[in-house]
Amino acid sequence: SEPILTVQDLHTHFFTDNKEVPAVDGVSIDLHKGEVVGIVGESGCGKSVTSLSIMQLVPNPPGKIVNGNIYFKGKNLTDASEKQMRKIRGNEISMIFQEPMTSLDPLFTIGNQLIEAIRIHQKVSKKQAKSSAIELLNLVGIPRASEVVDEFPHQLSGGMRQRVMIAMAMSCDPEVLIADEPTTALDVTIQAQILDLMRKLNKEKQTSILLITHDLGVVAEMCDRVVVMYSGKVVEEGTVREILKDPKHPYTKGLIRSLPNIKATDQKLYSIPGTVMRPSLDQVGCRFAPRCDYAFDRCWEENPELLEQDTGRQVRCFLYEKEIERGVPSNDRTY
Ligand code: SF4
Ligand code: MG
Repeated sequence: SEPILTVQDLHTHFFTDNKEVPAVDGVSIDLHKGEVVGIVGESGCGKSVTSLSIMQLVPNPPGKIVNGNIYFKGKNLTDASEKQMRKIRGNEISMIFQEPMTSLDPLFTIGNQLIEAIRIHQKVSKKQAKSSAIELLNLVGIPRASEVVDEFPHQLSGGMRQRVMIAMAMSCDPEVLIADEPTTALDVTIQAQILDLMRKLNKEKQTSILLITHDLGVVAEMCDRVVVMYSGKVVEEGTVREILKDPKHPYTKGLIRSLPNIKATDQKLYSIPGTVMRPSLDQVGCRFAPRCDYAFDRCWEENPELLEQDTGRQVRCFLYEKEIERGVPSNDRTY
């Protein structure tokens, strides 16, 4: 089937101090109806800029989408006006950010904010909107919803505020939910509950979810498919099973090794040695080379293409050129 959301060869650059930084450097991602796709990578890999680019929310200046297309149900969002985007955001595509305090207005009650969100999208009375707001708060598992609706954000815990944000995001019954590190700031128990909630929405409403995270444990629990990003580029893509059981790219292998083993008593984390190469336009060679155990001469001289198997599995590494004979560069994919 046609993807509901397609990111096609996206290039988002930042212009600072006379420098042009390709924060997102030719990224392509498909999201299908009812699918949960994870974008993983360390901070600075371009995953958040990718999600902001989809929403046309990259701060300009200093950021700018310099190339590529984003199709949502066949419509190219890179051509959409701000007015059209405002209709799509929080309506057909919703977004949940990491820090709910910054996304809720401290001066208004939870109810007022939800009611406003509901009434932007539905022609209902204030009274009807308030009962829908309470229903939504119940749906996201907020106890005493009929009281919370009249409370202010600071009266709630971080976990409860994040639930409110999910309720806000769901208030318009979006077709796509983009969640950027939705549980990072929360403790483990609350994190599990929020993930359960997102999974429930995905199952019951067929909401497609793009989940941005640095946490492979979250990916293992939630995702159907995984896109691994490094230094502005996709370095590997596959089903969650393929990525976790059979990682190919040396970076993904390192990430998997860094997953804490739940059974082990020694919970010490493995971390990939070396420093991240920041995206740069004049950089030659594989961006992972400075940290790669397998790097050889060519890796410093030439940029590896994203090789693709006919199953859709992708990997950007010279080591797989023989294995993936049918490989084609990502830019040559046709949609
Ligand atoms: Fe390592 Fe070379 Fe593969 Fe890059 S292309 S990941 S440096 S082996
Ligand atoms: Mg981020």
